[in-house]
Amino acid sequence: MSTPMMAFNQTAASIVSSYSADALGYPWYHSDRLQFIPGCPDSRLALALPIVAYWVTSLIYHALDCSGWKWIDKYRVQTTEDASKKNLATRTMVITTVFKMQAFQAVLGAIWQIFFKNKNVIFKGINHTVELQKVGTFLVKWLTKAAGEKVATGIMADHGAELAYVVYWYAGPVVRLGAGALILDTYQYWFHRTLHTVPFLYKHVHQLHHRLYVPFAYGSQYNHPIEGGVADAISGILATNLTRMYEREVVLLLTFIAYKGVEDHCGYQWTWHPLRWLSANDAEFHEIHHMHAGLKYNFSQPLFVMWDKVMGTYLSRQDLEDLKAAKKAKRKIKSQ
Ligand SMILES: [Zn+2]
Repeated sequence: MSTPMMAFNQTAASIVSSYSADALGYPWYHSDRLQFIPGCPDSRLALALPIVAYWVTSLIYHALDCSGWKWIDKYRVQTTEDASKKNLATRTMVITTVFKMQAFQAVLGAIWQIFFKNKNVIFKGINHTVELQKVGTFLVKWLTKAAGEKVATGIMADHGAELAYVVYWYAGPVVRLGAGALILDTYQYWFHRTLHTVPFLYKHVHQLHHRLYVPFAYGSQYNHPIEGGVADAISGILATNLTRMYEREVVLLLTFIAYKGVEDHCGYQWTWHPLRWLSANDAEFHEIHHMHAGLKYNFSQPLFVMWDKVMGTYLSRQDLEDLKAAKKAKRKIKSQ
């Protein structure tokens, strides 16, 4: 016996079953290569490209640090004299630790990919026609619930293919990457804050990173293995798996995060930097966290500042100056 819903499902199936990725065309960013870099599965690229981005960006900043150019001094958050006076780790120590950390992370990532993911997906690629049809089916169900069967069928018959195209190629990636970024930021804020508020964890895990009171670019991943390996790996796994990202979205997110970490530790507050249009989580924001007075503030990383704003731990440059002035005034009163 056929019910009205079953009849509707048959109509929906016939509409979406006609969608073809080739017929609808591909967006500007699409590459039909099975592997983005031939010979290197995209899953392995997700492990390697963040490291490449990290060191390429770091080398550019290292060249700037060594350049002796006076015009860049006005962009430094703290001076080079501050760095040589306050930092408790040398550049060689930092490089050695970061190399070890990244090797450890790559091994953990490879183990995860080998034992917990369907290996076939890596080599078979994605059937975009099947995925577009899944999106079409989702749209039919959603439109039916929202506007009723007749309207939904009409919309799908007239504009369903275009809608499925936009949702599949644009809205879907934006939503997954945005949700991944929020998960990552939420995890990082609370984990980072815990590292500062539990004395044992600060002393034995996070203090290593804070040997750099004046950070420099490649100090971004100068971390204890528990923090840089295990905790960061968990945040990446959560952000990419909970949102069911495609492999190339994982490559994009993890590479951007590694690059952003370098920018946050570079020590230069560029007034014109496009990243500063996106978020107030910039080099100055994070460098304040590395200062003695800012250690209990600005825990947010790597993208936004929302958790610091919500939890009252946000400290701007002006707030920092006010805090220092208040402490100075207090000391003066005590000494009188
Ligand atoms: Zn910290």
